[in-house]
Amino acid sequence: MIRLEALDKSYRTRRRQLHVIDGISLDIPEGSFFTLVGPSGSGKTTTLRVVAGLERHDGGRVLLGGQVVSDPAGGVFVPTSDRGIGMVFQSYAIWPHMDVFSNVAYPLQQARPRPDKAEIARRVGETLELVGLGHLAQVPATALSGGQQQRVALARALVGRPRVLLLDEPLSNLDAQLRERMRIDIRDIQRSVGITALYVTHDRAEALSMATTVAVMNHGKIEMIGAPRDIYERPASRFAAEFMGPCNLLPGKLTERLHGGWAVAATALGDLACRASADMSPGQSVELIVRPEDVSLGGAGSAITARVSNLAYLGDRIDYVVAVGAQELRVLAHPGLAAEIGAEIGLDVLPGRAWAIPAA
Ligand code: ADP
Ligand code: MG
Repeated sequence: MIRLEALDKSYRTRRRQLHVIDGISLDIPEGSFFTLVGPSGSGKTTTLRVVAGLERHDGGRVLLGGQVVSDPAGGVFVPTSDRGIGMVFQSYAIWPHMDVFSNVAYPLQQARPRPDKAEIARRVGETLELVGLGHLAQVPATALSGGQQQRVALARALVGRPRVLLLDEPLSNLDAQLRERMRIDIRDIQRSVGITALYVTHDRAEALSMATTVAVMNHGKIEMIGAPRDIYERPASRFAAEFMGPCNLLPGKLTERLHGGWAVAATALGDLACRASADMSPGQSVELIVRPEDVSLGGAGSAITARVSNLAYLGDRIDYVVAVGAQELRVLAHPGLAAEIGAEIGLDVLPGRAWAIPAA
């Protein structure tokens, strides 16, 4: 439904040229929820604005539903209003002098041809029900909470029945609890409407929990595209691994290739069973990515002994730093574990959870 082909864009300032989108290609199937995640400045917003037609690009093409909507080389540029998109931004961008109904009705009143009054009322009512604001139609927009304002913005984006919904960090201004609630609600609404969504965020939990497919962006390039589980558990690069969550990087060498994606790597912790992509072979220098939650401490009969060098008690878990020789590891442990600083403790890497990538 959304297709980007070799998209390229630079901003030229007086002193230098900034390459903001560096050859991005993406294919987002109809009805899917696609998240674009990356650090601030990686080019996410620019990419979204190019899809929306709010920004021109230098090279490549944008296709929506099979139709080319932007192709500088071919002289094609379909304006935003004709692209069939709905947009939601971080700032709610709702009009304070209007009530909820009028805010949501606005895009329909601007549409050509304009639906008649009864049709507008019916569609606004339907959309407000969809986002859970059916009872607040007559309330002034200023009387709403942040979460409700974001729902108004979502309703306004959906009321014109677009084919594509674009969202740019829509939850960043909400408090943590509300954010978690809204993640689920936005996902439910997207599913029930069946619309294709492209969602931009720097928040990895949002990216993983909402998406059918995640793309990790860095310096204008896509580092990796995959299902949430693959992005987190089998990252394609060190950048993707570290951006998506804390991890231990153990240098080592692949010593054996086993069937089913398994391998053995020699590391400072000894030989560890790990998984590795099919193109990696014995003898290759690797970095093993081991997530803190994939290490267990205090097991009886562990082959590895670690010494606790630091810990932070967090209530639902304990964040440990342990050392095995010169190798430090971060470990998330169950709060019941009572190992204090200086203690010697057995350590195990959970089988199959270590992931090998080529050494940089
Ligand atoms: P993100 O949304 O991932 O934080 P952006 O797409 O907003 O990233 O920005 C990517 C880069 O482009 C940043 O370095 C930003 O400063 C720069 N940039 C964005 N808009 C403009 C502009 N209008 N003129 C010049 N540079 C810009
Ligand atoms: Mg941005």
